[in-house]
Amino acid sequence: MLQLLSVLTLFISVVAAGEPSTSAAEQHLDLLPLSHFRQYLRINTAHPNPDYASAVNFLTGLADSIPGLRSQVLYFTSPPNKPLLLLTWLGSNPTLPSVLLNSHLDSVPAEPDKWSHPPFSAHRSADGKIFARGAQDDKCIGIQYLEAIRAIKINSPEFTPLRNIHISFVPDEEIGGFEGMAKFTGSQEFKELNVGFVLDEGQASPTDEFRVFYADRVPWHMVIKAAGIPGHGSKMYENSAMENLMKSVEVISKFREAQFDKVKAGLAANSEVISANPVYLKAGTPSPTGFVMNMQPSEAEAGFDIRMPPTADPESMRKRIAEEWAPSWRNMTFEIVEKGTLRDFMGRPLMTPASDSNPWWSVLKEAISKTGGRLAKPEILSSTTDARFMREKGIPTFGFSPMKNTPILLHDHNEFLKDTVFLEGIKVYESIIKALSSFEEKSSLN
Ligand SMILES: [Zn+2]
Repeated sequence: MLQLLSVLTLFISVVAAGEPSTSAAEQHLDLLPLSHFRQYLRINTAHPNPDYASAVNFLTGLADSIPGLRSQVLYFTSPPNKPLLLLTWLGSNPTLPSVLLNSHLDSVPAEPDKWSHPPFSAHRSADGKIFARGAQDDKCIGIQYLEAIRAIKINSPEFTPLRNIHISFVPDEEIGGFEGMAKFTGSQEFKELNVGFVLDEGQASPTDEFRVFYADRVPWHMVIKAAGIPGHGSKMYENSAMENLMKSVEVISKFREAQFDKVKAGLAANSEVISANPVYLKAGTPSPTGFVMNMQPSEAEAGFDIRMPPTADPESMRKRIAEEWAPSWRNMTFEIVEKGTLRDFMGRPLMTPASDSNPWWSVLKEAISKTGGRLAKPEILSSTTDARFMREKGIPTFGFSPMKNTPILLHDHNEFLKDTVFLEGIKVYESIIKALSSFEEKSSLN
């Protein structure tokens, strides 16, 4: 009953919006993808115990219902409990580099008591919002890829792709991708796909323009440690650990301020500068009531979360840290854990050109504008996704999730996506998939 009611509401809202009334067949075409989306959202693939098996079963069934789509499940871990689903629509010229559409199976956890609807119920509100963990990040695109292919086969039965089109559903993106996409891109199976171009997840856009991402920032975890002579709390002397650490903190704060000034002045986006944010300070000699107050400690340390855009020079940053932020002449040592690389296998900055020098970019942009959509200025993503593993291989990769006029709710409570936005996204991918897969150019950026 509820289902019928929501079907009716959707129909009414479409008619009320002044759209031409849709035929029964078209209505059915809309309702089926929505139902598939909600079914996928109801499978709990949140960490720490993602139900990958059920998700892969469900998606394989869905792929089987689309004629001509081949599916295989790959495992790269032992025990084999992290499946990777790979679907393929063969092109007429499989020697051309293929197109890969990627999404991840997993999601971050949800705290049900902070949600207005249970996070795995895929509740649909009267105004068409579908609430679920993963609604934006990124189960939407996984289903949209499939439904776009289904729609192409129905709407353009004469269409045959020139290039092979692959769709991958990978595990573990939310925990770093090391047992998911990293293993996949390092495998023989991946090599054989001869991937020339990848679309991966992007982010919602609160405006009327779609967002597109050509690079990710790479986190560096930096710990600086100061040593010094311990002394009585009353004594003034040079080279105490606290003094040494505080001098460094001052230098780093100045750097942070200069980067932030660029953002505040509108000269750069947040993700285009190097952020260096203090995350902890550790010093002092503990006492039963707190800290010993009449003693200057011999050790002090601070931790920083640094985010490096690929436009930054990692070598000069390492040098700056060694010479200015934690110089040995000030009794400082440091440790940097670089959580990824900023350069591809050829030593080039890890970013995909978002200009007409990249033929894939032109094709993508045109395919989107054909549907009436507009792209915002290409961005660097503040955080990190699986896209980096493909870019490391030198494969042009954009992050793109067609969600406009939508608040950014990934990893947030009450994550939702509107049904109309979801359905429009399928139309956008229909255009994109047709354009990318029939694009003749042999050269890729590899
Ligand atoms: Zn994601």
